[in-house]
Amino acid sequence: MKPPFDPKTIKPGEFSYLTKRNLTDSAGAEKGEIFLWKRRGEEESHFVLQCPHCGKEQDGSITLLKRPYRIRCTHCQRSITLPKLMEEAKKKRGDSE
Ligand SMILES: [Zn+2]
Repeated sequence: MKPPFDPKTIKPGEFSYLTKRNLTDSAGAEKGEIFLWKRRGEEESHFVLQCPHCGKEQDGSITLLKRPYRIRCTHCQRSITLPKLMEEAKKKRGDSE
């Protein structure tokens, strides 16, 4: 999957987070991936992903409120659980401060 941005065009401080993670299917096998990002000052996160269950690519936006964070695949309707995105984002931010 191609990243949604050219990393060179991103300005420092533009994003609250921007991350790429592997996704696992219900058996725990890594089959899909997701780019997830949120611009500073926006409530919604945006994503492009490849569903680990059906392999279809899709994009959209979502407000992530409650852990564990989940996105429903628009093709197979199965729930995709996001790996620890926020924890990682927090850790990275903490490291840079
Ligand atoms: Zn799917």
